[in-house]
Amino acid sequence: MNDNRVAIAGAAGRMGRHLIEACLQHPRLELSGAVVRAGSSLTGRDAGELAGQGAVGVRVTDNLTEALQAANVLIDFTLPDATVDNARLCADKGVAMVVGTTGLGEEQKQALENAAGVVPIVLAPNFSVGITLSLRLLETAARVLGDDFDVEVVEAHHRHKIDAPSGTALRMGEVLAKALGRNLDECAVFGREGRTGERDPSTIGFETIRGGDVVGEHTVLFLGDGERLEITHRASSRMTFARGAVRSADWVVGRGPGLYDMEDVLGLASPQGDAGSLSGPGGSGAGIDSIV
Ligand code: NAD
Repeated sequence: MNDNRVAIAGAAGRMGRHLIEACLQHPRLELSGAVVRAGSSLTGRDAGELAGQGAVGVRVTDNLTEALQAANVLIDFTLPDATVDNARLCADKGVAMVVGTTGLGEEQKQALENAAGVVPIVLAPNFSVGITLSLRLLETAARVLGDDFDVEVVEAHHRHKIDAPSGTALRMGEVLAKALGRNLDECAVFGREGRTGERDPSTIGFETIRGGDVVGEHTVLFLGDGERLEITHRASSRMTFARGAVRSADWVVGRGPGLYDMEDVLGLASPQGDAGSLSGPGGSGAGIDSIV
């Protein structure tokens, strides 16, 4: 039996099916559970077949407690309330977590923070390597360009996405605001309409596009006088996120309690840590507010 046995919450979702596939492809991970919402008609199906991979002998269940008995890490891509319930149970059972759910409110963030005081949790609004690296590029660009350039974040996702702006866009905003010495809560402008007046140079603007089957696109524009810089990331497959989440599951088992992010998983986190509120041992120290 492999060391790291993975249960997946939200197994029937768009991400869940890719997570099953990515887990089955990983050399050191074993899929031990696949959890769907209570009462789902998919209960009892083979998890591998659910993901179009052929039977693997793992039955889909709607009982997380049962699924956690055989697992030492839970990957959760569900809904904010479900993720909070699942985190409480993982803390209770001593099971590590990888959380990809976005759109968490303040209380939900606090509940995850509490759970991370008991078990290690990797939390990221975007598990792609490209986005994680782009956060570093944005930080550098904002520091170099400073207040002379207006900053706007534009994101596009498929028509089924239920939160806006994306967790990734907000995370980008946090990184940009911090590099520019601003507070995102005070400087964010979400969409514009009507007689807005001239642009306030201290703001960071967010625009959201929803439609079709767009997997996820983010562009940050630095707009100056006579030149403009654009940093764009385009995800063309959900397997990008699934592979990052599965890689995080392999990484997080055996860590001390704490809240980690994808920068920790990739080894990009600064040794001194960030100025955030919660730090896992060896973690970046990024506060939950700056992650979700
Ligand atoms: P989806 O609606 O296709 O899937 C969510 C699934 O969770 C559904 O099948 C739903 O029935 C199930 N679910 C709800 N409550 C549950 C519970 N208590 N137990 C088990 N399953 C439950 O959505 P999706 O596109 O797969 O996205 C899921 C989440 O992941 C969203 O918040 C999305 O923004 C986020 N996401 C994150 C990343 C990332 O890299 N972090 C990438 C893509 C999507």
